[in-house]
Amino acid sequence: MQATFQSAVQDEAALRAALQQADIVPSLLVLTHLTGDFDLLEQAAPYIAGGWNYQESVPQALRETAQEQLIRVLKDYAGRDRPLPALPPHDVLQRMMSASVGSNVPSEYVPMFVEELRLGERDTRAFQGDATPSYDARETLQVVIVGAGIAGICAGVRLKQAGIPFVILERNAKPGGTWYENHYPGCGVDTPNHFYSFSFCPNENWSRYFCSQDEIWAYLNAVVDKFGLDEHIQYGVEVNGARYNEERAVWEVEKQNADGQEDLVCNCLITAVGHNIPSTPSITGLENFGGQVVHTARWDHTVELAGKRVAVIGTGASGMQVGPAVVDSVEKLTVFQRTPHWAMGNPNYHKAVSEGQLWALNNIPLFGQWHRFLIFWAASDMVHEHLHVDPTWDQPALSLNAQNHKLRETIIEYMRKELDGDEELLRKCTPSYPPYGKRLLRDNHWFRMLRKPNVELVTDAISHISHDGIVTKSGDEHPADVLVMATGFSAAKLLWPMEIVGTHGRSIRSIWGDDDPRAYKGMSVPGFPNLFVLAGPNTALSHGGSAVFQIECQVAYTLRAIQAMIENGYASIEVRADIHDAYNNQIDQMHQGMVWMHPGVTSWYKNKNNRVTMTSPWRLVDFWRITREFDETEYICAQPARTQSAQQARQANCVMEA
Ligand SMILES: Cc1cc2nc3c(=O)[nH]c(=O)nc-3n(C[C@H](O)[C@H](O)[C@H](O)COP(=O)(O)OP(=O)(O)OC[C@H]3O[C@@H](n4cnc5c(N)ncnc54)[C@H](O)[C@@H]3O)c2cc1C
Repeated sequence: MQATFQSAVQDEAALRAALQQADIVPSLLVLTHLTGDFDLLEQAAPYIAGGWNYQESVPQALRETAQEQLIRVLKDYAGRDRPLPALPPHDVLQRMMSASVGSNVPSEYVPMFVEELRLGERDTRAFQGDATPSYDARETLQVVIVGAGIAGICAGVRLKQAGIPFVILERNAKPGGTWYENHYPGCGVDTPNHFYSFSFCPNENWSRYFCSQDEIWAYLNAVVDKFGLDEHIQYGVEVNGARYNEERAVWEVEKQNADGQEDLVCNCLITAVGHNIPSTPSITGLENFGGQVVHTARWDHTVELAGKRVAVIGTGASGMQVGPAVVDSVEKLTVFQRTPHWAMGNPNYHKAVSEGQLWALNNIPLFGQWHRFLIFWAASDMVHEHLHVDPTWDQPALSLNAQNHKLRETIIEYMRKELDGDEELLRKCTPSYPPYGKRLLRDNHWFRMLRKPNVELVTDAISHISHDGIVTKSGDEHPADVLVMATGFSAAKLLWPMEIVGTHGRSIRSIWGDDDPRAYKGMSVPGFPNLFVLAGPNTALSHGGSAVFQIECQVAYTLRAIQAMIENGYASIEVRADIHDAYNNQIDQMHQGMVWMHPGVTSWYKNKNNRVTMTSPWRLVDFWRITREFDETEYICAQPARTQSAQQARQANCVMEA
């Protein structure tokens, strides 16, 4: 429910108490937004060094003045029944944003944030087409979405709002994708939840800044409920593949459930299948292990860890979450590290959102939006400059440029402190590649965990697994009762194992191979008309930001493409090969000077030919800009359609009529 001025002031004591606990910067932003008066916000600006609440040191007297003024203004709005003021002009918003983070927020970000925070009157990421088209194309254009994770849910909500028929095919028994499948101890986000959530469905009740899996999964279920998506989702249905029928300009989707196999026909196919195929390295002797083996992505809660000798293989994102979550209950934790990761603490990582902050988020108009802005800003493009090689930089093996080097030193200092000055452990934990070469992790008390007496960090390579444990190349055997595979995903095999066949009978696999996917803006592939790949090639974020934002941008673009089909009666749209190739050349060029190409970095971002296929080189604001408009001239748009394709869809016994 939207906060109102009446609800904000009906219990003044509660309001006052909440403001004392709530973050001061969003309060100041609300005050400026409601009054147009910059005085207090700009008095506070010199005390603000970023978007996080721990980056401000606004003096107490100034805080109190701001709180009292805000109470007065809220009462005035409520008393006179005033509506929210009109959206402030661009320059005013920019000035507000800049003051509130203590540095210049470039002008190009302002419209992106207006959209992300839903400050404007219209939801510009929703379907923008004519609300009442004069023909029935909207009802007869049929869409199939594969996958009901964040991407599939997002696409479903937007299509539902647009009144376009769709069905979501999901192989799991429930929605949520990543957040349904991963439930290992300690599983949670490393992107702050207040913007790792849909812009069209913000949640003001996150209990923490970084929530655990159960809360995120509950949120996604609530979104499914709120938008009535369940009636569109077929659970327990795996899509084996899809074949484009050129004559009829439709996709024939092969779906399978417990009862067998069936074909569905649709005009547009949206794949929202994510990247989560668990990867287990082939280690000699694994099959002979006498204990239990569990992968973090397929956690088995019947596997008992308490009092056991547990070996964790892998020190990436999931290893860093699971280790500290189980360390105190196990007899011994042996951690096998192939490559160390850069990881940095965040004072809010384990923190609960205070009662006062929750109250303000739920009751004070605009507070949630401005809070989202601050956190979004803090955790996104600000670090982009760290990623670029400075050709004049004199320590190229260690870092890329002066900022990147400074970060390196800051993290090393942080690790030294967390490791209590243990230089041997510090040496083992210090990556040989520059920060951001792999995703920078949030320290989940990992380094403190390594200091515990029941923990051993092993950096010798694994030779094989014996019946009783793990044997390293040096010949040491590390006994274990349980092996935890924190070995991540085969993320580069996009759309695998589906067989997607486009025009001229060419399969996507024959074009992409196992590890060389390319698409225009990560979504459109020549020879595959009316196919939209969500979370496709070069869309993963590795510097910051949230996958939810990326997905929303892609879904907005997809909607604009579908809108063009509806409004112009196109039967098919297919990205031009020259446009696609030029875009991918540009992506490759951009990557050349970026951290992922650093010779010291090996990661799933790159394929075997050293081409970066997964990460996005764009700043968030760039990706937002390039996905805002759908340019028909970049596509081969085929007529006739208006009636014919609709008839074809109907004749083909379309899914929605079933
Ligand atoms: C533990 C963990 C923590 C993460 N934390 C963050 C974070 O902090 N910030 C961030 O930005 N990202 C994070 N990510 C990345 C995360 O995967 C994305 O943020 C997001 O959840 C991806 O959503 P998705 O819908 O694209 O894919 P998924 O969540 O993988 O959903 C895909 C869905 O498609 C279904 N599916 C796949 N193939 C088929 C098929 N053939 N037929 C039918 N259904 C199919 C799957 O069952 C699944 O439900 C994290 C990932 C993991 C594993």
